[in-house]
Amino acid sequence: MELNERAELDTSQVNDRGRGGGGGGMGIPLPGGGGRGGLIGIVVAVLVALLGGGFGLNAMTNGDEGGQAGGTDLEQLCSRENTKRFDDVRCRNLLFVNSIQGYWEKAYPELGKGKYEPTDTNYFQAAVNTGCGQADSGVGPFYCPADRQVYIDLSFYDELASRFGAKGEFAQPYVLAHEYGHHIQNLLGTNEKAGQGDQSGPRSASVRLELQADCYAGAWAEHATESKDKTGQEPLFTSITQTDINEALKAAEAIGDDSIQERSGGQVNPDSFTHGTSAQRQRWFQQGFASGDPKTCDTFATDQL
Ligand SMILES: [Zn+2]
Repeated sequence: MELNERAELDTSQVNDRGRGGGGGGMGIPLPGGGGRGGLIGIVVAVLVALLGGGFGLNAMTNGDEGGQAGGTDLEQLCSRENTKRFDDVRCRNLLFVNSIQGYWEKAYPELGKGKYEPTDTNYFQAAVNTGCGQADSGVGPFYCPADRQVYIDLSFYDELASRFGAKGEFAQPYVLAHEYGHHIQNLLGTNEKAGQGDQSGPRSASVRLELQADCYAGAWAEHATESKDKTGQEPLFTSITQTDINEALKAAEAIGDDSIQERSGGQVNPDSFTHGTSAQRQRWFQQGFASGDPKTCDTFATDQL
């Protein structure tokens, strides 16, 4: 993957909210199910279960640090004048967000439900207040259907590399594209419908929702190099290779329900699946990537998950 040094980034799509969720509090993580206003993550509940009080949990017990220490000025940090900007994870992820939303601007109308409504990604550290309640880093990156925004503590990527073994850099846009997949589902009403179905189990609505978000991520990946910068003139990526795609697949494998359960030393229990197996997550990402068409991502219409 090569990012275009000449690209002008649209910083309005990302808010850096810095440290703390505001006003102290308990730092209670909010593992959510698939629907009904709960937050939807890429790993969510399982991550909490696996890490059991480790990463990020209870990180917000100190009220003094709970104030909204403002984040960075991305406008300045990620401007073209800063020739080192792509060494910074915040600017790289800003570019990914721009690319993902640029893709959906074009692809969403083809789904026949009107225009795409853009939404922001919020960077936070430790904990954050959202329309879905207060969440902390332990839940992993997530989408909140209530306020329609994406939330990520960027240190999750270190976790993904060290604990989950997904070191490749393309794991990052895969994670974001998955979360934006939930936004698409929210706009389409899929998310709400799925909230009425089973929230765990191998063929549950939750698993179907998550696999569809992986498929949407694959569809973005297929078109990523076509996405343009803020001026509409420059591509955001100058190249994406098979190695990158393999890195996304590696990440999808690492966060499959069965892999996570195995790694945490427990039995693999399909009844508790919420996101799908490693093989399924890879398969649906591949499906989206191979077709480049979100219409082929109908995980609700098949039992061949
Ligand atoms: Zn998800």
